[in-house]
Amino acid sequence: MTIKSDNPNIKSIKHMAFAVRDAKTALGAYSKFLHVPTDTQLIDYPKSKNRVALFNLGGIEYQLCQSLEEGGRFDAWIKERGAEGLHHICYEVENIEQALDHAKSQGAQTRICQACGVHGSHPHPEGYVAFLDNDAGGIEIEFMQVYTPEELEKYNEYKGI
Ligand SMILES: [Zn+2]
Repeated sequence: MTIKSDNPNIKSIKHMAFAVRDAKTALGAYSKFLHVPTDTQLIDYPKSKNRVALFNLGGIEYQLCQSLEEGGRFDAWIKERGAEGLHHICYEVENIEQALDHAKSQGAQTRICQACGVHGSHPHPEGYVAFLDNDAGGIEIEFMQVYTPEELEKYNEYKGI
C-alpha cells in the first residue's frame, strides 16, 4: 500500500505539543512507559508563561506544555475540553508564505500568536511560525519555516542572544 503524500511544502513534523496540567507529572508517565530520561529538563518561558518538558521520541520533538498562569493558553484549553491532550502539531514547511497562501486559498484563516500578539508568519527562536484558526481532526495546525544558519544568526543578534 502506498500512502499518498501530495503536499511537497511540508517537510516533516517539527514538534507535537500537548496541553498538560503539570509538565513534571506528564513527563513522569513518558519516563515510566516510554523510557524518556527522567532528568529531562523542564523549561520555563517567561514570555508565554509556560513550563515545557522537551524531548525527542521516535525522531519527533515532544513538548508537554503547562500554563504557569490560570487562564493561560494551555490551562484554558484543558478547562474547555475537560481533559489534557494533543494541542497542536507544528509542521516544518519549505516555505511558510506558500503554506499560508495554500491554506488561505482553501478558506483557512490565521490565528493570533498569543505569546507575540501577531497574526501570520513572524519570527520565533527556531524559525518563522504561523498558526491557523482551523484545526484538522481536532488538532490545531502550526507552520514553521526553520531558519537557515544565517537567519538564525541574525535572529540571535537582534534578540541579543
Ligand atoms: Zn509568536
